[in-house]
Amino acid sequence: MIQKKPVMSKTKSSESVKVVVRCRPLNRKEESNGPAGGIVQMDLRLGQVILRNPRASASEPQKTFTFDAVYDANSKQRDLYDESVRPLIDSVLAGFNGTIFAYGQTGTGKTYTMQGAWLDPEKRGVIPNAFDHIFTHISRSQSDKQYLVRASYLEIYLEEVRDLLDPNHGNARALELRENPESGVYVRDLTSCVCKSIKEIEEVMNVGNQARAVGATDMNEHSSRSHALFLITVECSQPGPDGRKHIRVGRLNLVDLAGSERQAKTGVQGERLKEAAKINLSLSALGNVISALADGRSSHVPYRDSKLTRLLQDSLGGNAKTVMVATLGPAPQHYDETLTTLRYANRAKNIQNQPRVNEDPKDALLREFQLEIARLRAQLNHRKWRSKQKKEQVDGGWEGDGDEETEGEEGEEEVEKEAEEYVKLQEQQLEREKQDIREDQFMLADEKQRLLGEKERMMGDLRKEQEATEQLTAKYKAMESKLLVGGKNITDHTNEQQKMLEMKRHEIAEQTRREREIQQQMLVQDDETVELRETFTSLQQEVEAKTKKLKKYLKLYAKLQCIKAEIQDVNDEHVRSRQELEQTQNELTRELKFKYLIIENFIPPEEKNKIMNRLTFDPEEDQWKFQPLVPAESKSSQMKKRPSSAVGYKRPISQYARVAIAMGAHSRYRAENIMFLELDMTPPNTATLDCSTKSERNQIPSLDNSPTKDSGVCKSRSWCQTPKSITSSSSNVSLAACHTATPMTAQ
Ligand code: ADP
Ligand code: MG
Repeated sequence: MIQKKPVMSKTKSSESVKVVVRCRPLNRKEESNGPAGGIVQMDLRLGQVILRNPRASASEPQKTFTFDAVYDANSKQRDLYDESVRPLIDSVLAGFNGTIFAYGQTGTGKTYTMQGAWLDPEKRGVIPNAFDHIFTHISRSQSDKQYLVRASYLEIYLEEVRDLLDPNHGNARALELRENPESGVYVRDLTSCVCKSIKEIEEVMNVGNQARAVGATDMNEHSSRSHALFLITVECSQPGPDGRKHIRVGRLNLVDLAGSERQAKTGVQGERLKEAAKINLSLSALGNVISALADGRSSHVPYRDSKLTRLLQDSLGGNAKTVMVATLGPAPQHYDETLTTLRYANRAKNIQNQPRVNEDPKDALLREFQLEIARLRAQLNHRKWRSKQKKEQVDGGWEGDGDEETEGEEGEEEVEKEAEEYVKLQEQQLEREKQDIREDQFMLADEKQRLLGEKERMMGDLRKEQEATEQLTAKYKAMESKLLVGGKNITDHTNEQQKMLEMKRHEIAEQTRREREIQQQMLVQDDETVELRETFTSLQQEVEAKTKKLKKYLKLYAKLQCIKAEIQDVNDEHVRSRQELEQTQNELTRELKFKYLIIENFIPPEEKNKIMNRLTFDPEEDQWKFQPLVPAESKSSQMKKRPSSAVGYKRPISQYARVAIAMGAHSRYRAENIMFLELDMTPPNTATLDCSTKSERNQIPSLDNSPTKDSGVCKSRSWCQTPKSITSSSSNVSLAACHTATPMTAQ
């Protein structure tokens, strides 16, 4: 009790992550494996887990860990909720950020703890209980409070964030993470659904669960590799002492993590290797973050190493209250995994968070909703008042007495009624007038038509006006229905007696929690106090005191042995994980070398450079990205502009070809923009080159076919210069020559 005070004052600014441990019962298969029984023992009163090593001798001390609470195989879902989760949800409803995450090996009950069996009230997990809690709280709160509840559901699979509420979840692209100084890290474009009741939010959960199941061929395989995050935002507006409405925003993250067991990484290649490297990336990053935070000395916390740690940044060492539920299996064959989970959980206890109430944040959606509702209401009221005033004018005109005294005092309903009456009266009057016009025998047909048309138009206007008002009303009502008013929208069916029972249960849970805290504190104190009394009145007393002391030293010695063994264990584990990391690194290096080999040998350097030049690093996303080929903004302008060489022609054309066209060239190649060139074989001196020409002729068969063969040599000419000499047999060879010649000529 005396110790309580400093703890309380400490919780104001910072509080540690609450860690609870739950052990599931042995399942049938494990029971049939042998009589060994479970290796996990729990002391519920002290919140301790005692782990027995099935391979060690009986004399070896067992490992003991102390947590905020422990739940054994007989524990009920309700116990865990009332004792460990309820206070957190209450905080979220008061405007704090809250996170609950379940951590443990696959098959130890993470999903059972978080979701449970929905249909059995005894087995409903944390999430459905939290839904009940939130909406019951709203229904029981005072009517001056307004609430807006939103839910989102996402999963992180292979380091990609996927929206589970997106209708085409299967094909949807991965979402990006963004950071905002006010609300921290968030997921861009994540669907969020406004929920007005337990039923609606359960529906959201079901939709997400189905998307998760459809995406995965083997659900168990999938769930042991993906993290599921269900996010609930509760915004509450309440008039403050200054008369203004203040908004508090509580964000709740309900996280079902992937299985923590080590995935085998050996012998896998390609896609599977990439997958294996990513599977535990988030989890090992989470481990590193927890270690860095628990250590307290490291200045750098590697939040940016994975999507999960970025999303949980506030929950680990930031502005949030966090509860971690570590789940264990009691089977002896999973001793190593169980020990790892317990160590992980033990480390997480040391993380300090700095939770604070999120008061009046700029991005509160509730504020936007309130403003929009107020705007719509003002518009609607304005319309109705206008109609009402018109009616009064009409009434005044007919009955001759303007009755003004009810102005401003009338209730909204009366205004609405009067507005409706006005529309009805107006319609009737227009109908009467139309009838009069039709029956008037002295009026000309044209005049009648014109007046009738006018009345028709007035009638149309009136209807349009009415329709607009109706639309506005519908919009207003839809907006307003999204907000929950304390004690109004949701009917609470529990009677007084049940409420009392619930309250008592919560009190008992609170009491148990406090008792456990005190017990733990006493245990710590007992260990630390040194025997101060050194003067003894009798020999007997001295013996007693020294025996006590001796016992204490023995206890301390045992503890020392435990700690030594622990250090050895932790060292072994580090070595093991380092070896694994090295192995992964080696395999990734091999893969990288292989890729390099492909690039060096099969991709032309200029292509490689082109690709390299397009790469840019996105620090926000922490990855390399391709820039688009054409910058987006200049794309349209580039497309529109025609190169000057193409003006007046179908396509860009060389100077030489233009001249050729102007000279009336052969039409066959005009479209191709091809020039016809023959080799310039003019010898510098015809007389001395007689024999060499002969050998050249043999080497170049085209010359043999050339129509100018008989002239011996000819000058280089374009096809347009020799239109008459071109034959079909020569065109192939000449074309080949032209391809290389054209650009040069164009210069
Ligand atoms: P995880 O999500 O950790 O992989 P599950 O929640 O799917 O594990 O649990 C595996 C199995 O164990 C399920 O059939 C579940 O019903 C059962 N189970 C888990 N925890 C408990 C518990 N505390 N009490 C009874 N059954 C449990
Ligand atoms: Mg699961």
